[in-house]
Amino acid sequence: MTTDVLPAVEVPLLELRDVGKVYRSGSLEVEALRGASTSIRAGEFVAIMGPSGSGKSTLMHVLGCLDSPTSGTYRLAGQDVSAMSEEELAEVRNRWIGFVFQQFNLLRSLTAGRNVELPLCYAGIPRAERSARASEALARVGLADRVEHRPGELSGGQQQRVAIARALVGDPALILADEPTGNLDSAATADVLGLLADLHAAGRTIVLITHESDVAAAAQRTLRILDGAICGDSDRVPEGARG
Ligand code: ADP
Repeated sequence: MTTDVLPAVEVPLLELRDVGKVYRSGSLEVEALRGASTSIRAGEFVAIMGPSGSGKSTLMHVLGCLDSPTSGTYRLAGQDVSAMSEEELAEVRNRWIGFVFQQFNLLRSLTAGRNVELPLCYAGIPRAERSARASEALARVGLADRVEHRPGELSGGQQQRVAIARALVGDPALILADEPTGNLDSAATADVLGLLADLHAAGRTIVLITHESDVAAAAQRTLRILDGAICGDSDRVPEGARG
């Protein structure tokens, strides 16, 4: 039998199986994730919603390979990243993931262009190419005329657009956005959510963490997290609601 008669099996881009995360400080243990399981396919736009303290940030850290789970498995593009070393995780982050944070996390002393170039510096890309790709990414988010501006010379919404350009510039498979509109007014919020929707339409996978339902409404699918476990998925029809 040849392999081409087998049906193509789609590997989820992200797959969490029974993931637990325990924080230990002294004799105190906090179980921030308890048996979190879900899978997200390439090209999806998913919101993860939950109240404060439900485990959203912890989940974001695990999904972003910024921290490892204490138990269970996490596969990114089919690769088990749950037991990787710090160095291996840094490489996976750089190659696969673009981050957008609530506080923008831009370096204030650098221009928008230089901020956007940073992930390419870590990847060892030569300077001329870095600069060209940063300008292209800034043009993509509507800031072609702000390449030389420093963060302090930009509005909050523009700073978040710079951060999105920085997330995009390395061409990652996944964009992870943690409360990206938490510090923005309603016009800038609509602007940033519109930009994420455009990136999704262009084929990116986007995971958006938020505690606001209006923000989650920008996504195609919503996962709900409570007490460290995924307790709802808009893609899954509850048993009782099936005809
Ligand atoms: P959310 O982002 O939904 O507010 P978090 O993931 O930040 O939730 O927190 C989940 C739980 O884990 C909370 O009870 C929080 O106090 C605890 N927690 C988070 N980070 C740490 C840490 N570094 N050390 C100890 N406990 C933590």
